[in-house]
Amino acid sequence: MHLEELSVEYIHHGLLAKDFSATELVEALLKYIEDRDAEYGAFLHVMADDSLKTAREVDLNIARGDDLPMLAGVPIALKDNIVVAQHPTTAGSRILEHYQGAYDATVVKRLKASRAVLMGKTNMDEFAMGSSGENSAFFPTKNPHDTTRVPGGSSSGSAVAVALGDVVCALGSETGGSVRQPASFCGLVGLKPTYGAVSRYGLIAMASSLDQIAPLGRTTMDVAHAFEGISGFDTLDGTTAREYTFRAEAVKKFSLESLRGLTIGIPKEYFTDGIAQETRTEVDAAIALLKSFHIAFREISLPHTEYALACYYIIMPAEVSSNLARFDGIRFGARKGGATLLDVYETTRGEGFGREATRRILLGNYVLSAGYYDAYYLKAQKVRALIAEDFARAFRDVDMILTPATPTPAFKFGEKTQDPVAMYLSDIFTVPVNLAGLPAITFPTRALNNPPGNDGLPVGVQLIGKHFDEATLLGVSRFYEEAVRVNKSG
Ligand code: GLN
Repeated sequence: MHLEELSVEYIHHGLLAKDFSATELVEALLKYIEDRDAEYGAFLHVMADDSLKTAREVDLNIARGDDLPMLAGVPIALKDNIVVAQHPTTAGSRILEHYQGAYDATVVKRLKASRAVLMGKTNMDEFAMGSSGENSAFFPTKNPHDTTRVPGGSSSGSAVAVALGDVVCALGSETGGSVRQPASFCGLVGLKPTYGAVSRYGLIAMASSLDQIAPLGRTTMDVAHAFEGISGFDTLDGTTAREYTFRAEAVKKFSLESLRGLTIGIPKEYFTDGIAQETRTEVDAAIALLKSFHIAFREISLPHTEYALACYYIIMPAEVSSNLARFDGIRFGARKGGATLLDVYETTRGEGFGREATRRILLGNYVLSAGYYDAYYLKAQKVRALIAEDFARAFRDVDMILTPATPTPAFKFGEKTQDPVAMYLSDIFTVPVNLAGLPAITFPTRALNNPPGNDGLPVGVQLIGKHFDEATLLGVSRFYEEAVRVNKSG
């Protein structure tokens, strides 16, 4: 058994059949992480004692014949901007280097209740700002498909931990593509949930009107199970939807019949010259495969797409500048300096934040300042509404929208670090979804469970759905995955 072939259901049934114990599984994975992680840099902090403790509890549950939730004994990693009580939570930043969580995020509470094994905290771009993992204040994370390339970001460590087989699934966070982009660079499935589907309580805020916690996995069903485990209404987050309950079962029930009735839109604005040839070829092949399921395709237009990135890079920094104000050395953040209050602020923030965080705080303060608020922030809010309307209009005619996940496969280290705008451009296909609050999935065009490095660089396809229609997105992804698997073995 290869560790990277473990799935949620395989573990669930294996534990129940006593083929292996949760303790054996977790011990094997901890050893695997210890032996290999120095090379890849996926983890900032491994929760070895806690994960073994949970595994032993799960084994005890099984011995007693207790009901076993689907995620019990399943090893999961958490991006380091998700707060876990009594464990480091750095958000990839020096300013929180010594911070320990004071409470559990809602998603953590839920995973603990289902006795999932929380293996550790993963590396990330500082405060989730970045598309390559290179903005981590600690060390970069390497792409297992080619270690000279970035794994994508900002959920760099979560993606690599899953791709390597350190864990079965991981949680990342999405503000503009931070789960979908690394998932597609690492050959994984990533789901950005509808805004309001998952509680943000205990997620260190980047841009609150865009942020969602989001799962990644090697297979669609793994992602579906993780999503079921974390989603749903939470009294501690007023933006969570009261009525929404997701069940992974719904993805399984999704039939070939339901697939036949679907119409997928291809937005002409997303298929432009900037797309790499290999991405284009792979995405075209994926469309051809989906057509063989008798899904109808039609060209659509999302006319405001060209303004999405500009709009995002006004709204996001505005919210960043406000959310990051709390790291002042008094309420949060390792205090530096001290002669005067202003000195404490300046030294703490000056030394604690990296370049990209500083850049966005400055930009955010600028677009919110009295003289520029109307010209930038207010205008961007109006553009955001137009982008959301584009999608609403399109969804009158189609059930979902297909695009490449990213314009190119994983790029090389250092390739975009000197040019922030080139880095921002790698999010061009993912950002509009966050602005509109929609759900979207990315899945690899080739077979899943590929041992990293075998088949060239992975390419991801993105499907964008209607609000709270995660089940259909996952359903299509599952059929696609199955078809690729059958083609490959046949
Ligand atoms: N890469 C994008 C950015 O740098 C998205 C970040 C995210 O989704 N957290 O803002």
